[in-house]
Amino acid sequence: MLTQWLIGLIASTFFRKVFVDRKGHNLQTDSRSNILDFSPAELETIVTELGDKKFRASQIFGWLAKGVSSFDEMKNVPAALRNSLADKYFIGLPEAVKKQESKDGTVKCLFEFPDGTQIESVFMKYEYGNSICISSQSGCRMGCSFCASTMDGLDRSLTRGEMLGQVLAMRNLTGEDIGHVVVMGMGEPFDNYDELSGFIRLIHDRKGYDLGLRNITVSTCGLIPKIKEFASDFPQVNLAVSLHAPNQELRARTMPVAKKFAYDDLIRACREYTEVTGRRITFEYAVIDGVNDSAECAEELSSRMRGWLSHVNLIPLNEVKGREYRKANERSVAAFRRILENNGVAVTVRRTLGSDIDAACGQLRRNR
Ligand code: SF4
Repeated sequence: MLTQWLIGLIASTFFRKVFVDRKGHNLQTDSRSNILDFSPAELETIVTELGDKKFRASQIFGWLAKGVSSFDEMKNVPAALRNSLADKYFIGLPEAVKKQESKDGTVKCLFEFPDGTQIESVFMKYEYGNSICISSQSGCRMGCSFCASTMDGLDRSLTRGEMLGQVLAMRNLTGEDIGHVVVMGMGEPFDNYDELSGFIRLIHDRKGYDLGLRNITVSTCGLIPKIKEFASDFPQVNLAVSLHAPNQELRARTMPVAKKFAYDDLIRACREYTEVTGRRITFEYAVIDGVNDSAECAEELSSRMRGWLSHVNLIPLNEVKGREYRKANERSVAAFRRILENNGVAVTVRRTLGSDIDAACGQLRRNR
């Protein structure tokens, strides 16, 4: 009897540790799926399997795009269907576990998904409208040496519905419309290409959020095969490439991806992208004091960028605790810019938003 009791105690302790997360969600036995992961066509299959009519799928998809957090809020959906849905699916909006507001109106949010995975998203106000920077992965495995997101490696990639969930949850949280999405937060989007593609299709769908493709920007550190695929799959979506150096040697010092995809090949792939899509490509260049901010660097970068549909976005480095790099001063950024302009290169200096709350590019992380 005592032995049985002991076995029971050990087993229940073990199962609790393994199967229950810190918020009490029973991960192992909850076999429900996140309904935000499904397209309208997939929802049609789901509702017909649950014994209802196909047109209910559009109603459900529309409610999800409004940001509802429970099936009970779907007022024009019959109660029986709402109950059946709740038995098999959950609405995977992330929970805001920490919210910080910058003096410039930027809002950074540490979101947590039901399995305990944490990511950060940032809401920003621009003259052209409100924008959100979302994460595509929790952590990142690309290892860029100036970036906070990669410091603890990759936890896991996010699903399409989890990317959509960040936009919906942020809109609920701020009460503001969001008309632009940049996939430039934690993670390398092209390292999670299928889910990224699914997310773009979901948020663009006119039955749902109906966001224009030109209002979406995806940023990559330069995974060449995916740049080619992206040009063919989404020619209307904006592409930004994190370049951060004027040549292979310097790039390889800060970005390990350069060892796999060489600088010249990357520039060639980007030129091909502009030829296939007819669209300008943006190169992000974090200006780092004493590393890549010299006049020689600006001249060399100009020689790579001149004469085609390129645009350079200079970002005074956003410093990260625990990283050795320092921000280039305003004078050297201005001088760098002038050299590019004099060489006929399209260039802007990014207005840095939210740096007082560590919400700027390269500062997002999952452990705070
Ligand atoms: S800059 Fe982007 S790709 Fe590089 S480590 Fe950070 S999140 Fe990953």
